[in-house]
Amino acid sequence: MELSEDALIWIYDDFEQKAAAYKTDAACEKGCAFCCTDAGSIHITTLEGRIIRDTVARLPRQRRMALQKSLMKDMKKREAGRPSPCPFLMKNRACMIYAIRPFVCRRVYSTRTCTKGTPPILSRQVMALADRTIRELQALDDTGYSGHLSYILYMLGQPKFRDTYLSGDFKPEEVVAFGKRHGILINRMAGG
Ligand code: SF4
Repeated sequence: MELSEDALIWIYDDFEQKAAAYKTDAACEKGCAFCCTDAGSIHITTLEGRIIRDTVARLPRQRRMALQKSLMKDMKKREAGRPSPCPFLMKNRACMIYAIRPFVCRRVYSTRTCTKGTPPILSRQVMALADRTIRELQALDDTGYSGHLSYILYMLGQPKFRDTYLSGDFKPEEVVAFGKRHGILINRMAGG
């Protein structure tokens, strides 16, 4: 799994390098957090989820419990079709897991300041690069899945699923009902 993590970081860095030339006119500023509150689903792969989960496990107990509550709340709100900010967004509008934030948070930027009525504008080249990068991430996590962050972390919190995933087994039948309900993709089929 460590080799996969190295490969994951390599893929992130490769994207950053290739996209850098198109991002020079980005209007993004620290503390904006529009993408963390209003950008809809925060899609991650199970490999990214595992890294986030390992980081969360090292947090002090009280913080971990509060986060668990926020993740459950996020799931409930989304199931009810209500908007919900990312559970990792802190009160000061900084990201609790910035160093290991998933690719979905790395790909997005905007050439204008975002508001409710003015969503991000990205260059077509960066969108194409990001689509390619997502396929690479899904191929890297060949026995895994992709979906909204809270749902993927929930799946990884289930011992049966976690054991299957961590052992490298591939049993999509175990997650089919949850997957259908929550728009979970099978990487092997989505990434190609
Ligand atoms: S993980 Fe961090 S950067 Fe990504 S949406 Fe959540 S708070 Fe924002």
